[in-house]
Amino acid sequence: MTTSLRTWVRYLLALGSHYSGLDALYRRCRGAGLVILMLHRLRDDHDPYPLSVPRAQLRQIVAWLRERSALVALGDGLASLSSIRAPRVNYALTFDDGYRDNLGLVDGALGREPVPAVVYVATGHIGGEPIWAYRVVHAVESRSRDQIDLGGLGLGHFDLSLADDRHRLYTLLPPRLKTLKPAELQTWVDRICEQARPRPLPHDDRDMLEWDDVRRLAANGVEIGGHTCSHAILSRLDDSAASEEIGLSRASIAAELGQAPRHFAYPNGSNADFGDRDVRLVREAGFETATTSIEGVNRRGADPYRLRRYNVHEDRFRAPSGRLSRALFFSETSGMLGWLREWRAA
Ligand SMILES: [Zn+2]
Repeated sequence: MTTSLRTWVRYLLALGSHYSGLDALYRRCRGAGLVILMLHRLRDDHDPYPLSVPRAQLRQIVAWLRERSALVALGDGLASLSSIRAPRVNYALTFDDGYRDNLGLVDGALGREPVPAVVYVATGHIGGEPIWAYRVVHAVESRSRDQIDLGGLGLGHFDLSLADDRHRLYTLLPPRLKTLKPAELQTWVDRICEQARPRPLPHDDRDMLEWDDVRRLAANGVEIGGHTCSHAILSRLDDSAASEEIGLSRASIAAELGQAPRHFAYPNGSNADFGDRDVRLVREAGFETATTSIEGVNRRGADPYRLRRYNVHEDRFRAPSGRLSRALFFSETSGMLGWLREWRAA
């Protein structure tokens, strides 16, 4: 099936299940659930990675959830799973990494009422260099040289003056880099920066939050969670490095905010990126919950250290017309389409 045909089929299925009432019926039959949305960046300009949501889109999603009284804080959503009150599906918002644009949560861009959310910060990046993926973006977008040789990674040569080559680099490089050990990954990102020689980033354009920003988020009701120090993928680390990444990130947040974080998110978060050892380390460090990037609705009895999340980015719930679709959003995250996806993946 071609991509555009698949998009149409998916959209028509969503419309059918949402407006026929099938979706609502499915939700009633399945009982209580918690949908955790995983976002990264809140920005309106173009992002070469699928990691951004424009503010207007999030404002719309928040309005839909408020209409249903379904937007809750993560901890409340988990507690409500075991409540005996009428079972319902609630939604919680989470943001990974600690981008400065997350300040949109508290600067009025989403309305006057505070929006409950957890922002998971990689503490080593607070006030510093962006996560490696955006160091690559900056190297490419602000380059002073066009020729990049990634033969050592088996990816060949790129001429960054060509849009096709930039697109190819953004598509091929991240999955290749994620297979490397953390030190090797950093070496390769350094090498790409050396070759592209990007112009220095002005302070006002910095990507990451500073500690003052983090305190401002916390003071306005946003919960701050842990996400390691260096954003290392835990399964690639030995025991002591994994323990240090988890423990030190928690200690830094506690020291800077005067309160220890309750929530943690595994960097990258797929089944291959963390294991039983990391679950144990996160629990022993004192965190109460941990989220993955494995998709699905959390049901009664869900393991609080393996919570599922839906990745949300600007194209995820768009109708073929380009508009954000309410039918796609609800049928994918808590309705029939989400169920179909899980069933096919099983
Ligand atoms: Zn992350």
